[in-house]
Amino acid sequence: MKLLVVGGAGYVGSTSVEGLVEAGHEVVVYDNLTSGHRESVVEGARLEIGDVEDGARLTELLSDGVDAVLHCAARSLVGESMADPGLYYRVNVAGGVTLLEAMRSTGVNRLVYSSSAAVYGEPRRVPIAEADRTEPINPYGATKLAFEGAMRWFAAAHDFRAISLRYFNVAGATERNGEDHDPETHLMPTVLRVAAGEHTHVQIFGQDYSTPDGTCIRDFIHVRDLAEGHLLALEATGEGDPSLEVYNLGSAAGFSVREVVEAARRVTGRAVPARAIKRRLGDPPVLVASSRRARRELGWQPAHSTLERMLADAWAWREAHPHGYASSRGDGAESVQPERAAASAG
Ligand code: UDP
Repeated sequence: MKLLVVGGAGYVGSTSVEGLVEAGHEVVVYDNLTSGHRESVVEGARLEIGDVEDGARLTELLSDGVDAVLHCAARSLVGESMADPGLYYRVNVAGGVTLLEAMRSTGVNRLVYSSSAAVYGEPRRVPIAEADRTEPINPYGATKLAFEGAMRWFAAAHDFRAISLRYFNVAGATERNGEDHDPETHLMPTVLRVAAGEHTHVQIFGQDYSTPDGTCIRDFIHVRDLAEGHLLALEATGEGDPSLEVYNLGSAAGFSVREVVEAARRVTGRAVPARAIKRRLGDPPVLVASSRRARRELGWQPAHSTLERMLADAWAWREAHPHGYASSRGDGAESVQPERAAASAG
């Protein structure tokens, strides 16, 4: 297939592109590099730089024989969304609808979307199933849900075959690509930065939740397993009636913030000092997925999503890229491996 991966230079997008190229697909990456990295685009994929709000550009790219779209471009930080909801509605909703319109006008009707567990808000039960109530408690989740609504109506009106994948907490790395955000706010990479001595301690946002150790519980999923989910979902859009299908992708195992910190101590063999502070706005206490539907209908198996494996892979990537992707560019890292720098130069 010829695929357009919108947001394909970001953490989730770039690892998926790796998998799609390996599986033999022709991939065009479309990314404005706001939070993505040029160096993360594997050889074999073509990078086109542009905004998701640029409908003319999307139309031009889609009309060049694209069979299906993977849409990963989004603003994705809960805290930032609480402070600046307009940005989230502009990029995640208006940008997404621009993409849908470009698809409609070019007759491309197969779409897989990176959605989020944040659409559920505070779940009434765990593990959460796809049909459970969706009541987001932050603009990030609200915009993800709003775009799912747009996909559903486009599917009905314009014969789209669309799949929305609701991810839980993505972690880990491949050998080539890993998590490099600036600023970094996610738990696992932050914990590893502390292990590496970049920060003095981890701040634990709240230890008065109604959970066994008082800290939030999340369902972590290896980015490799997510990439596999994308591939299976893209293939699944090739058959069936026009529809929007929704699947949770999680590991079905929840770990608390404190458990992640402890596992990071074991995996890295380093000290990881942690201090509890007050809760962060917008955080539900527990998010754990039931992924039975994805396993049953897509044949998805999250084979890499143990806490140790995710931390070990992310740690290995960090050690190979102590300055993130800047290490691949050679600006500042004496420990850059020459073959890695050369491999990502193009
Ligand atoms: N968290 C924390 N300290 C940090 C970063 C995150 O205690 O430095 C907590 C956060 O409050 C949440 C969990 O870790 O309960 C996962 O947060 P993250 O930002 O990684 O992902 P989210 O669940 O917001 O998508």
